[in-house]
Amino acid sequence: MKQGPRKSSPQKTKRPPRKSLKSWPQGAAGERLVDALRVDGNAAAGILSELFVPDLTAGRAKCASCGVTRTIGVLLVYAHGMGTVMRCPECNGVIMRIARTPTHVWLDATGADSIVISLPA
Ligand SMILES: [Zn+2]
Repeated sequence: MKQGPRKSSPQKTKRPPRKSLKSWPQGAAGERLVDALRVDGNAAAGILSELFVPDLTAGRAKCASCGVTRTIGVLLVYAHGMGTVMRCPECNGVIMRIARTPTHVWLDATGADSIVISLPA
């Protein structure tokens, strides 16, 4: 049997492309829910201070999705019982996810190409 180029199969368990992270509930009800949970990046100052001694909201993060660099304090924060999700204000890509358990604080910063903090002069 001749082997041609492989076609993707529906059973494939490949991770979805990063673009899928941009999707949020659509429609009036979903938008109201998202808007009600959204505050600016300064709302994450408390949980970030548990991970980093300096106030990280003054630092800058480069979005891995669109390449824009923004001050962390202006990122869009969605905070709820499951944790804190920080999104890019340009492309809505997830830059950081933070979750707290009784014994740990977890940080997923894979949505940031880089994070830079200015040192005191
Ligand atoms: Zn972005």
